[in-house]
Amino acid sequence: MGTRIGLGYDIHRMVKGRVLCLGGVEIPHSAGLLGHSDGDALIHAVIDALLGAAGQGDIGRLFPDTDPRYRGIASAELLRGVMLRLRRKRLAVVHVDTVILAQSPRIAPHVEAMKDALCPILSIPRDSLGIKAKTNEGLGLLGRERAIACWAVALLRSRAAKKS
Ligand code: MG
Repeated sequence: MGTRIGLGYDIHRMVKGRVLCLGGVEIPHSAGLLGHSDGDALIHAVIDALLGAAGQGDIGRLFPDTDPRYRGIASAELLRGVMLRLRRKRLAVVHVDTVILAQSPRIAPHVEAMKDALCPILSIPRDSLGIKAKTNEGLGLLGRERAIACWAVALLRSRAAKKS
């Protein structure tokens, strides 16, 4: 089976009165991301990249937002569940790269904390997780801080079955 690649994307609206969770980290800000779960668009994009590479559908199919079990759940827990599925299929994560599009707040000061949160779950070293942040140059709804969008690509490796 060799190597497999997956692409993920997510966007969540920014609303007042929500805690901003991104990359498994709570970031102090005046607004947070709306969602059935904690709204962590970065983890959701990573999950879809992993599921795409694994041929396992997408986050909406696995964790429907109509299911009360997932209301307010930390997205890191969803990611742990996806990693279990990958391990069952004998798939290991090789590398994940991401882009966060956020007009505000500044993401760069939180990148190391995001790596602290995500690398142990993904079982990859810090230099195998890319987290890059950009603003939208003030353009459109993203530029007016109405939402944060995230992209992720994931490379998986198939572990060959052990010979007995
Ligand atoms: Mg989402």
